[in-house]
Amino acid sequence: MMSPVVSSQAGLDSFPYMDERFADLQMLRYRVDGFEQLSLRQKKLVYYLSEAALCGRDILWDQNGRYNLRIRRLLETVYTDYCGDRNSADFKAFVVYMKRIWFSNGIHHHYGGEKFQPAFSEDFLREAVHSVPLSKWSFPGKHGRDGNALRASVDALCDELFPIIFDPSVLPKRINLADGEDLLQTSAANYYGPDVTQREAEGFYLRMKEAWPDSAHPLMFGLNSRLVKENGLLKEKVWRSGGLYGSAIDRIVFWLEKAVTVAENKKQAAVMEQLIEYYRTGDLRIFDAYCISWVGETEALVDFTNGFTETYGDPLGMKASWEGFANFKDLDATARTETLSAHAQWFEDHSPVDARFKKERCKGISAKVIVAAILGGDLYPSSAIGINLPNSDWVRAEYGSKSVTIGNLTNAYNQASRGNGFLEEFVIDDATREMIHLYGNLCDQLHTDLHECLGHGSGKLLAGVDSDSLKAYGSTIEEARADLFGLYYIADPKLMELGLIPHSQAFHAQYYSYLMNGLMTQLVRIEPHRQIEEAHMRNRALVSRWVLEHAQRQGSLPAVEMVRRCGKSYVQVNDYAALRTLFGKLLSEIQRVKSEGDFATARRLVETYGVKVENRLHEEVLERYHALDLAPYKGFINPVYLVTHDDKGEITDISLRYDEPYDRQMLRYSRDYCTLPCVND
Ligand code: ZN
Repeated sequence: MMSPVVSSQAGLDSFPYMDERFADLQMLRYRVDGFEQLSLRQKKLVYYLSEAALCGRDILWDQNGRYNLRIRRLLETVYTDYCGDRNSADFKAFVVYMKRIWFSNGIHHHYGGEKFQPAFSEDFLREAVHSVPLSKWSFPGKHGRDGNALRASVDALCDELFPIIFDPSVLPKRINLADGEDLLQTSAANYYGPDVTQREAEGFYLRMKEAWPDSAHPLMFGLNSRLVKENGLLKEKVWRSGGLYGSAIDRIVFWLEKAVTVAENKKQAAVMEQLIEYYRTGDLRIFDAYCISWVGETEALVDFTNGFTETYGDPLGMKASWEGFANFKDLDATARTETLSAHAQWFEDHSPVDARFKKERCKGISAKVIVAAILGGDLYPSSAIGINLPNSDWVRAEYGSKSVTIGNLTNAYNQASRGNGFLEEFVIDDATREMIHLYGNLCDQLHTDLHECLGHGSGKLLAGVDSDSLKAYGSTIEEARADLFGLYYIADPKLMELGLIPHSQAFHAQYYSYLMNGLMTQLVRIEPHRQIEEAHMRNRALVSRWVLEHAQRQGSLPAVEMVRRCGKSYVQVNDYAALRTLFGKLLSEIQRVKSEGDFATARRLVETYGVKVENRLHEEVLERYHALDLAPYKGFINPVYLVTHDDKGEITDISLRYDEPYDRQMLRYSRDYCTLPCVND
């Protein structure tokens, strides 16, 4: 039967979930429950995979911008060796700037993508740089020990980097998705050479796709390379051993090879060997083979992702940022998602989508709740709470995908957000708030499960439709599709029947929270007078505003409306059942857009509902939110793995600590996982 309270959320505990706060960021810690119960062999496996997950950090920094690694080196040296007044306002502003850059893995905001403007002057930073003893600077091999030459290279570094740091017009955005502009020329992300235009890149990959003989099984073209121009010719610099990022990749491979020796089964060892082979060659055919084996390995307790994975950071949605992640199964919570997976075909058959776009056979959807053991690359410190991989459409269609929700991160978020006044401010009345208190967490988890386990895996492209045909709108449409699938089904009596939900109206909590977020509260993440850029946010705005607009009915109250009470705006839901019908209608249309590759409609939907911000409402939401004094973004400090050896150097035990301060962790990572040279290639 059902259990109305999820056990991991019962009661507060004394674990220090909340850590320091700065700028718009709240640092949290997550607890790796169950690690002590693993066997020594499994602990070693988690540890080796954790090391592999940390070794790619520099890759992400370089992908996020071509100056990031050198800026980090410059700023960290000032951070540790500044000889001036550390209590001055300037230095305090510098510390905040440094912490934000660490959090973003670069000089642009991790979410909005806009460049940070330092709250200290260029003069201050130059003086701070000069206050650092010369012996603290390192420029490998360049100038020897000659003081004057060293001073000259420090000055040259400042001259080069200061405009990047201070001039708001230089590289203002990491990723620009503004319709009608050259998205590569206007984005600071380092996935394309600075002189490569959008038209050139699109043409390059179109030719590559057309030349590929097996159109039903396309490679993830462009996934693991930078596209550059050399002597006027476009060419890919592939990220592989011996290629671009080779020194980092070799370190990752070193730890993966150790992991192979303690794999839980032969299949898992083979998966890791294929990944190593792919890292060595950069061959995307091996990558597909690796993904297929990875999807097929579901027996082991410990699992991982490691590599060039998500394409949100590339304005053209092809090139993948590096991420690393080690985890193991949470056996209790997994039962919930296994129930959903076991009925995947029922959900597919009963969805409101046109039969032509449905999968005849939903197969291979493995669903589980996992415990995060380490976050690395693009999952650190800001992390997803659910993951669905691989991303190749045909691999998903033919072999399925692995879906996970990360239970211990969700729990940390929930623990941190109790009683902070947010719901009191933005939810319209006590009855709705009570419902959210009762069912909000459970519904939220179920919605994530439905989104990840069933939503992304549902539906199919019509034969001959290019999976990239929605271009810059593809990510938003895909997220909307998965969200809508979840919204439609969270209200279905089937969930009661399956024992997953304790009350037939529990879904009201999710509907209200979702619309409140999409129409109002997610705007707290947007700076005044800016538009919505990020794919998940665009998706939530699209879904919520489309539903608001289509909720008007002749002769009766609209299903949902925006109302004013005591001078404040609120979402008011008048008819939850009618909302479900609307979500179903939009799901059907979005699936059609995806299945047919209908670029024009994707663009119209996203541009009409997903992008623009209504200034008056935005100002009001920001004002009410700021009065609560909460941080809009959260991220995680990793645990520290402590390894005990015997006299022969064999590992005898591994334990965890949760007390490393944020800045110490970042500085340690920069020192111990410095895998790329700080020079431009
Ligand atoms: Zn998603």
